[in-house]
Amino acid sequence: MIEKVRRDFCIECRKETEYILQKKNIVKNIRDKEYNFSITVAICTKCGEEMIIPGLIDKNMQEIDEQYRAAEGIVSIGDIEKMMEIYKIGKAPLSIALGFGEVTIPRYLEGQVPSKEYSDIIKSTLSSPACMKQKLMENSDKLSDPAFRKAFAAAENIESLFSVSDKILRVIAYIFERLEEITPLMLQKLLYFIQGVYLALYRKPIFEEDCMAWIHGPVYPKVYELFRDFKYNPIDDARFILFEGTEDVLTNDEKKVIDLVVNTFGMYGGKVLERITHNEDPWIEARKGYGDNIPSSEILPKKRILKYYTLINQKYGINTEDGLREYIHDMIDKVS
Ligand SMILES: [Zn+2]
Repeated sequence: MIEKVRRDFCIECRKETEYILQKKNIVKNIRDKEYNFSITVAICTKCGEEMIIPGLIDKNMQEIDEQYRAAEGIVSIGDIEKMMEIYKIGKAPLSIALGFGEVTIPRYLEGQVPSKEYSDIIKSTLSSPACMKQKLMENSDKLSDPAFRKAFAAAENIESLFSVSDKILRVIAYIFERLEEITPLMLQKLLYFIQGVYLALYRKPIFEEDCMAWIHGPVYPKVYELFRDFKYNPIDDARFILFEGTEDVLTNDEKKVIDLVVNTFGMYGGKVLERITHNEDPWIEARKGYGDNIPSSEILPKKRILKYYTLINQKYGINTEDGLREYIHDMIDKVS
């Protein structure tokens, strides 16, 4: 790494000198309790004394604030902003909904540190839409009607996220992180291919959900419910902020398979992916006896997907992007 040369005025040396940034541990008393904080200091390379650098004080205040909150388990300003976004609620109405004074949340957003009690209320409503709904109900008479209805609907919407397994949610969150534009149809197909490739490579499912042989290919019905409002448009879902930075819940093998599928199948639109699934045995078999436009809720058994993708793996080597690309090309060319 090339270090930028930093220079400023050293009061010890009485001239401009070079300095380096270092971490320093300090002990600070807050409300009669001792805390260890790690801050950043500038050290003069000539005399070894600490130098006063513009911006560093602010940076350290912020570092201390974050470390203090982490030590006490107190929510960050970012958590509160996240909450306003997912529940579609402004700062004053949020304050009222939580049973605080109207100015409490605005003050927290300006940097005031919440008490443990209030912080715990914010935390539990952030992680539980049911808890948020309860708070909204309790304080509904103090909220304007539109504000109440909007936030309540948002909470119900988030609640629906928990109708699918945690694993499939994490997989979806990871796909969203990797692909900028994705429609509900594309997402359905990618989930199916991810399951297929993972089954073939690791002999176990990546998530527990089963898909059904709908008219337009395999569909995970509860995932369909989650994103039905987006119709044929790319999914732009604020609810998924909840999962930001939590992708470490996925193992390296799981991430590897998602990357493989996103980098290959993910280059195609929903209609092309649909066509590929229509040429695959598990879907064809599950659709037996159904005319083209007849809805069906036949399940594509994971065992059957495993068997099919195991054969595909033997033929193409789908543990690599090249192998998957070859398979995709063959399937697109196949006349159905
Ligand atoms: Zn100096």
